[in-house]
Amino acid sequence: MAITKTDFMRGMQCRKMLWLDKHKPGLRVIPPEVQARLDAGNDFGDRAMGMFGPYEEMTVYLPGKKIPDKKAMIRKTQEHLAKGTPVICEAAFSNYNNYCAADILRKTDTGYDLYEVKNAPEVHEQFVRDAGFQYYIITRCGVKIGRVFIVIHGPDEADPFLPQDVTREARGYYRWINDNIWDLNRMQKQPEEVAVEPGEQCCDPYECWYYAYCHPFRDTAGQ
Ligand code: SF4
Repeated sequence: MAITKTDFMRGMQCRKMLWLDKHKPGLRVIPPEVQARLDAGNDFGDRAMGMFGPYEEMTVYLPGKKIPDKKAMIRKTQEHLAKGTPVICEAAFSNYNNYCAADILRKTDTGYDLYEVKNAPEVHEQFVRDAGFQYYIITRCGVKIGRVFIVIHGPDEADPFLPQDVTREARGYYRWINDNIWDLNRMQKQPEEVAVEPGEQCCDPYECWYYAYCHPFRDTAGQ
């Protein structure tokens, strides 16, 4: 695959981060608290699949591995779209090899609504960008998306799934994504390491997992 949603967001935070993901992923240092947050987010996402009742999940793994088989997921998604399945989870799409998997697609009279699930008490702008990327890929695959929601973690643990309508804001990212996705595609494939000076992007919106690699003297020289 070319650029995934995660690739795009990481590449837009810092192009060097994306390049390192592709060429030197062994340099990553993921803090335990970050890994715990990612795991909790995955659990919340798994629970949210049932928020509209029965659903079909598109996740398929490569034989004997816990690695998603994206091509099989795309095929399975197309089968369920053709059948008119009412709720499709982890719905996978590819456009010119750029890829996304939507947490939940819910059928409407005119197409599908898109739900991106986030284990957070409020909507952050990077969540809307995530949803915007999915809107971009899915609509370019010919599926009509009506409304776009971020599902946040509400205070009622018995029913914590609170959809927030971000349709206008997510659609607003369409041109920004199209303006950058092709450059990221080209850049991630180049053999020479991308040169980027450390700066504010190293911690905004997320602390970079290559921080130690790019700041080798931080602890010893106070830099
Ligand atoms: S530490 Fe900073 S400069 Fe280095 S890859 Fe991460 S964001 Fe980019």
